[in-house]
Amino acid sequence: MGVKFENVTKMYQNGRPAVQALSLEVQSGELLVLIGPSGCGKTTTLRMINRLEEPTSGSIYVDGHDVRSYNPIQLRRGIGYAIQQTGLLPHMTVEQNIELVPRLLKWDKKRRQERTRELLEMVGMEYRVFAHRYPRQLSGGQQQRVGVLRALATDPPVILMDEPFGALDPISREVLQNELKRLQAKLHKTIIFVTHDIDEAMRLGDRVAILRDGQLLQVGTPTELLRAP
Ligand code: ADP
Ligand code: ADP
Repeated sequence: MGVKFENVTKMYQNGRPAVQALSLEVQSGELLVLIGPSGCGKTTTLRMINRLEEPTSGSIYVDGHDVRSYNPIQLRRGIGYAIQQTGLLPHMTVEQNIELVPRLLKWDKKRRQERTRELLEMVGMEYRVFAHRYPRQLSGGQQQRVGVLRALATDPPVILMDEPFGALDPISREVLQNELKRLQAKLHKTIIFVTHDIDEAMRLGDRVAILRDGQLLQVGTPTELLRAP
């Protein structure tokens, strides 16, 4: 399922456009990294895909359909979203956090539990050990894993990731990057991954899009970008 931006501009109340005349197509099954310095419009770009923000002008298409044609709530349930602050609910266990959306979709208990088990084991966390812990009883790396698993729970074809490993130490970060690469090879999701870390971008991206001051400077495979002057 592809994602396409067509001449998208976003102005907030005051100041310069946060995103300006952005046109970009992300192919189905591709992992595209959006990179650029803080404030260049990366988060805004992601949040317009699942309609947490509306563009001021231009159009965004998911699976060929204008996002305005989807019900925003259904759109958000159909697109995975993982952020640096994980958004894990502290008073809920790992299992309850992961099955949040499946529950809204009225999956029965058995199916939810099987899915949680499968997801946890995919990232090397044993269900028996971790499912009933609270987020504060996990390491930083484990919390970020659970944040990502929650975004994967209903097996959405499109996943948005906003610096999901940003708060980690370099070693945990590299472990999670490798896990994501492995998952991506297996699951063929369309992933848009935001970071300001060039090494992370080059390691993860099938293609990398460079943003500056809300504008797309360049887009290409890591090899193409390294070759560019
Ligand atoms: P990045 O993710 O690259 O750090 P953002 O998309 O968060 O960039 O922000 C892009 C620009 O838009 C920044 O100048 C930021 O201050 C501004 N901005 C972001 N969110 C809002 C908001 N809700 N209201 C006003 N300005 C905002
Ligand atoms: P990661 O590489 O996932 O960040 P760490 O090296 O930070 O893992 O943590 C190592 C181990 O310590 C983890 O397997 C985790 O089970 C355990 N651990 C860390 N913090 C806690 C905690 N607050 N409660 C229980 N176990 C913890």
